[in-house]
This record gives sequence, structure tokens and C-alpha cells, in this order.
Amino acid sequence: MPPNGNDFTFGYTIHESLPQDWETEFNLIMKNLIELLPIKSRSGFYYAPVFAWNENANLPYSSIIGFRGGSSISGNSWFDVGGQVLWMQLEIPDQEIMWEHIHRYTVIPHEYFHFHQIAKSPDFGIKWMMEGSAATFESLYAQQYYGVNYFMQAQTYVDTKYVNEPALLELYSSNEINYSSSVFVTLVLAKELQKSNYSEEASFRLIFKDFYAKYPSNENWETIFEEVFGMSVNDFYVNVVPTYTADIETVLPSENLTLQAIFQE
Ligand SMILES: [Zn+2]
Repeated sequence: MPPNGNDFTFGYTIHESLPQDWETEFNLIMKNLIELLPIKSRSGFYYAPVFAWNENANLPYSSIIGFRGGSSISGNSWFDVGGQVLWMQLEIPDQEIMWEHIHRYTVIPHEYFHFHQIAKSPDFGIKWMMEGSAATFESLYAQQYYGVNYFMQAQTYVDTKYVNEPALLELYSSNEINYSSSVFVTLVLAKELQKSNYSEEASFRLIFKDFYAKYPSNENWETIFEEVFGMSVNDFYVNVVPTYTADIETVLPSENLTLQAIFQE
């Protein structure tokens, strides 16, 4: 498929080790996400394969995507006419299927959001912004579509160390549980934007959409941060985040906030 600058296609490969109801829900979630937040193609990035399987199927697509498990957006030596192919891989833990854990579905919006980020900003890798946004988007999806507060269910492990020094979370090597601290810093940013008189949905729109509309990279992101959010990264780190208590419950978004309100102005 040639790139034409205004659409993006996915190709789904779902392994038989996943139950039919998972596949049905996967199709519905992808449809919702594509409608909500269409991915814009660009040169070299206009098609993405998606591979999904149950972890108990032992990497059934390793001949195509290699031997790395887990869920992610990944690439290796697979190239097509447009360049390197990036794919979404979803390795669903069998325990999540057995116990009907909500994460068997919310991993889909999380990884999809990374496509949105990468489509705009292939050279941006500030972890708390990449993962904090994807994991916040994931929890907002869970709240809206499943009535589950995934912030409280899975993202409560906020580490005081990172609240005192958020810059440590810029690196992917920082350790945290379920990106809880990255989500926390992201939610603090949303609260601060509301103090600057943005509505709640406008605040999340700045974080999820407007920031990426300026194509941040590891080189320019601090300038774009200040342009979009009206405060410097350093002020945010030093003067804002440490004034909050390391408790996700104090910065939760409204329960009636919808993704449509955030993305459709
Ligand atoms: Zn992620």
C-alpha cells in the first residue's frame, strides 16, 4: 500500500490460542480507536501489522517478528518499500484470559496510543511522557468503556522518589510498577493546566494531541513543552510536581470524562 499522507492501515493476525470473544472485542476496540484517534500516515509509516496470541502458544509468530515476547510496538530487521516495518504485538497472559482481567483488553488502547505518538514523533523517547500518556489513555478507555477505574486498580504504586525528582522518569531505565509514577506526573500536569483555566478535556487534549502535533523529538521537546503547556519543564519538575502528595487518588480525572470530549474539539 503506498503512503498517501492521510490514512493508515492495519493488518490483523490473531492466533487461534485466543478465544473468539477476545478477538471480537479486539475488533471492536480497534474500530473505536481508529474512529477516535485516526493515525496519520507519513513517508515510511503507513501500514502496521498487528499480531496477537496467548502466551501459552509459545511465540507462534517468531519466524516473522522474532523471539521477543510481551506487548509492545516493535521493529527489527523487517523492511518493506517504505522502510522499517513497525508492528503491534499483543502477547496476552493466559492468566488474564482465565480470570477475565481487564488488562487483556486495555493493553490494546495502550499500544495503539504509542502508534499515535510514533506516527508524529519517531525520535521522541521521554519515558514519563510516552508511557504516562499511553497508560493514562488506557485507564480513561477502561473507565469509559468498561466502568473500571484502572488508575486505582493498577496504577497506585506512585514512588515518592520520582515525585521529588521527576527528571529521573525521563529515562526508560527508571524502574516503576505499571508506569504508576509516570501516570501520576501526567495527571499532575493535567491538574496544573486546569489551574491555568483550561477545561479538563482541553488539558488532556494538550497532553495527548497538541503536544504531538508539534512533532517533539528528544532534541526539541523541552521547547515544545513550554510552548504547549505554558511552563518550562524545569519549573514543572522543581516547583510543581514535588508539591503534590504521592497518591494517585489526589489527581484522578473525572469519572465522566470521555475520550470523545478530549479528541473531538
Ligand atoms: Zn507502553
